[in-house]
This record gives sequence, C-alpha cells and structure tokens, in this order.
Amino acid sequence: MPQLTDIAYLRDLLSRHGFSFSKKLGQNFLVNPSVCPRMAAACGADRESGALEIGPGVGVLTKELAAVAGQVVAVELDDRLLPVLGETLSECDNVSVVHGDALKLDLHALIREKFGDRRVSVCANLPYYITSPLIMALLESRLPIDSLTVMVQREAADRLCAAVGTRAAGAVTLAVAYYAEAEKLFDVSRGSFMPAPNVDSAVIRLTVRKTPPVAVNDEKMMFRLIRAGFGQRRKTVSNSFSAAVPDRERLRAALVAAGVSPTARAEELSLAQFAAIADALGE
Ligand code: SAM
Repeated sequence: MPQLTDIAYLRDLLSRHGFSFSKKLGQNFLVNPSVCPRMAAACGADRESGALEIGPGVGVLTKELAAVAGQVVAVELDDRLLPVLGETLSECDNVSVVHGDALKLDLHALIREKFGDRRVSVCANLPYYITSPLIMALLESRLPIDSLTVMVQREAADRLCAAVGTRAAGAVTLAVAYYAEAEKLFDVSRGSFMPAPNVDSAVIRLTVRKTPPVAVNDEKMMFRLIRAGFGQRRKTVSNSFSAAVPDRERLRAALVAAGVSPTARAEELSLAQFAAIADALGE
C-alpha cells in the first residue's frame, strides 16, 4: 500500500470514499512524511505499552503508532472516516478504531477495557478547536496515562509550554504545570498539512506528574484564583482576585498570610504562591 503522505494516493483514497474535508472538525491531515515517525518515537510507547490516539483521520499517525506500540486505540468522531480507516489500517492487527467524541467518551472506561494493565501514552494531531479543553479534561480527570505527545497550533504550544511567572504564561500554563511537565519538541510548518491551515503548529509533550509540584488543600480555589487572575491579567491581584473572592478584607488577609503583595499581578506569581493564597483563604 502506498504511503498515506503520498498526496496523489491520498487524494485518490479520499475521492474513492467520497470524502470532503470538514473545517468544523479541524480536519488538516499530515502529509509531511517525517512528522508522524518523530511523534510516534517521542511518545514513549513500546511493545509492552499502549497508545491512545484522538482523531486518526486517515490513519497516518496511527500506522506509525502501530509500528512502535503493543496496542493502539484510535478515537474518531467523523463516521465518514471509518470505512477509510478500515482500508488503510487493514494490515494493522494491533489497532482498534472507536467511533466517538473524545470530549464525551468515558476515556477511563475505554482505557480499562482496551488496555487493561498496560501503560498508556496519548499521541495525537489534535483538532485545533478542542486543544485546550481536551488537554485539560484528560489531565483534570487524572486519566491513567504516562504522557501526551500532541500536535497543536504554535501559539497554543508556546502558551502551554511557557515558563510560569513569565508574560507568555496564561491560566492554562499554570493548570498544565500542576499536572504535567510540558516541553516543546519541534515545530511543524503549515505546508505539512492537507489542506494547509492558516497557522503553523508544534509538537509538545506533557509528561504527567505522579504528584503535583505543590501541595494545596483546596485545588478548586487555587484554580479559581488562577482563572480570575489571568482573566484580568493587567490588574493587581487585589482587584483581579475579587472575581473569585468578593470579600475584600478576607482576600487582603489571605494575601498577607501568603506573603504576596496586593499590587502584584497574577502573571508574576508562582504556583506555590497561588496554592498558599488558596490555603490561607481556607483557614
Ligand atoms: N491524525 C490525522 C493526521 O494527523 O493527519 C488527522 C488529524 S486532524 C487535525 C483531526 C482529526 O480529529 C480529524 O480526523 C477529525 O475528524 C477528528 N476529530 C475532530 N473532533 C474530534 C473529537 N471531538 N473526537 C474525536 N475525533 C475528533
């Protein structure tokens, strides 16, 4: 079978199946032959472990994952791609395709059912419209996975992998940093996709932490403060945090107890400081 990155073959395959690209589903398929092998190698899957892919498209990354992992499960929302995948993955006996929405499926149950006791890594070229919600849902639900190696838009990659305490960081940077160690692996140009999107992309790896880097009693309050602080990032924390803590006197006392200046801005704070303020509010 020809390579799925061979554009003439890909066009013929898609036209035989009467397939047309859906912008709404973020369908930009990889046609740069060097990208998928690099992603599969970087995701850490091996013969003893499993790989979970979100959005296999025509199966270009799925095939590379099948070559390195013991078992691959690929979740695809677009039912028009199921017969295409049936054809392209016909020789891969360690792959199963699941039809469903990755945001709605019970992925804990899926992992238990399909992978049993195997270690699991997520590897995917994510549809851009669900990048952050999907990454956060996987991390917050504490899905039993070792890592996520994912292709995202370059801007999202820079945000997700920014150093906490810098201007490039956002609420999602801190949320991700609480659950995982983030690193940018390599850039991918827009010309690597069919059709080419309007922006460039990058592959990042989030290695899930066994324990969070800071101890906090009230995780929910810590995340409310992070969201409030970055929601109005130009304001000082004594103002921006009031969206999460309307009682100004209580907020002032918590900032003092945590040793944080009321004139600081959220982007200057470390995760440990957010945790200290959240805990002081609970006392
Ligand atoms: N992996 C393929 C590749 O690299 O060429 C396709 C990547 S394309 C950027 C995103 C894929 O995710 C598409 O196949 C799309 O149909 C699928 N998709 C979109 N939303 C989804 C969702 N909520 N759950 C599962 N798959 C989804």
